[in-house]
Amino acid sequence: TRTFATSSAAQKDSVTLQAGPFDPYNAIVAEIPNSSPAVDGGPLKGWTAAIKSNICVRETPTTCSSAMLQNFTPTFDATAVTLLRRAGAIPRYTTNCDEFGMGSTNMHTVHGAVRNPASPASKGGEAWDPQAERVAGGSSGGSAAAVGAGLVRFALGSDTGGSVRLPAAYCGVVGLKPSYGLVSRWGLVSYADSSDTVGVLAKTVEDAATVYEVLAQHDSKDPTSASVEARSEATTNAQDVLSSLTSSDSSQPLKGLRVGVPKEYFPVELHARVLPPFNRAVTALQKLGAEIVQISLPSTPSALSAYYIISSAEASSNLARYDGVEYGFHKPRATGHHAYAATRTSGFGDEVRKRILLGTFALTADAFDNFFLQASRIRSQVQKDFASALRIRDASSKHDNTTASQEGVDVIIHPSAVDTAPTLAAAMKGGEAGAAEYVQDILTVPASLAGLPALALPAGVADDDGWPVGVTLLSQWGCDKLLLHVGKHLE
Ligand code: GLN
Repeated sequence: TRTFATSSAAQKDSVTLQAGPFDPYNAIVAEIPNSSPAVDGGPLKGWTAAIKSNICVRETPTTCSSAMLQNFTPTFDATAVTLLRRAGAIPRYTTNCDEFGMGSTNMHTVHGAVRNPASPASKGGEAWDPQAERVAGGSSGGSAAAVGAGLVRFALGSDTGGSVRLPAAYCGVVGLKPSYGLVSRWGLVSYADSSDTVGVLAKTVEDAATVYEVLAQHDSKDPTSASVEARSEATTNAQDVLSSLTSSDSSQPLKGLRVGVPKEYFPVELHARVLPPFNRAVTALQKLGAEIVQISLPSTPSALSAYYIISSAEASSNLARYDGVEYGFHKPRATGHHAYAATRTSGFGDEVRKRILLGTFALTADAFDNFFLQASRIRSQVQKDFASALRIRDASSKHDNTTASQEGVDVIIHPSAVDTAPTLAAAMKGGEAGAAEYVQDILTVPASLAGLPALALPAGVADDDGWPVGVTLLSQWGCDKLLLHVGKHLE
């Protein structure tokens, strides 16, 4: 039995799954029935997939790792899942995650913590040694672990503030957070819908690119799905950059590419062991012909606070639907308005309740100006920072960067996370300490606030602890393919 379920009192009588010999990492929530492919051919023919359990899969428990949805079995597939099936993929399992996508360690889950498969120490054994075992990262930890452990060829995750990129970095796999609006959110359970995206975890950039290609389609069922025009404009812009990389020297395929290293992405929280693998990646880019320039994104230090205010505010609204009447678990024998409180108190875990309270507070009349409004202002600043650093035109036309000069860059590179994965013991302590867990997201949230695409790549292991380190590439909205192209060269 696992010891690390971070359960609130009422979650004890919820579904319990056990890590077994097949899945010693506790990555899997449920098996998907009838998972024979919908078509015989297709670009993903025979590719096995795992789906984060906040993305609807028909006839399969889609629990969001919450007691609230332990009995929720959708009768439909999310658009992303439909597209995968149509392309020939075989969705096989749903995966563990932080409850409703809220967390960075995959310990806030009714199914128990996920452990990181990236170290020999994790390859089985009954007892979990909290001092040696490491977290898979959150919130898409089950998806990253399933890919890292080879249980499936690729997985879907969701990324609102880093939930695909952080677990990818911790588990040593590839993680793509697409530009906001390029992959349909229909059937993804909302957490903070102005930043929610469906992302991809895979072993190689090539695989991630193939899956992305299948998923990046306009969907009329998602009101925030980017228009066909905006998509094609962005594709043209990215293509222009790619065609400008014309070097006669085949050892310099990235000649002409300008890559920015933002100085604010090396905060005091960044551990020194992350630097050698990061520097090796930068040197590799340079050898490939890219020009490396230092840039500044001055609003970065404020992004984390802004993100947690905005995402919690949106969560408080999105999660209001789980009232035990229309949606979700209903606390037995509770009646009247007490039923609402009793249901939500026991149906949600501690972290989710904390976010709902924080978010509700930030939206109250007294606090609104000082919290939500300030956070929204910071969000605009973060967007402006990127707009003036990047020289590719913004095809989403939300942020005017027509003034972006040729001094700007095409791609930005930064360490994916401030450190290698924390141990289960450290993560438990960090979670109890409150904000310590949030600091893990410090480098991933700015791209989320700006809706930009981000590709997290494995960059080897840290010299001292031997655990994976990741680097992340960012670019202009809609330039996901440019990132994938550069990422392939970095592999
Ligand atoms: N860790 C961040 C949070 O808890 C990001 C989560 C996510 O991207 N879903 O909000």
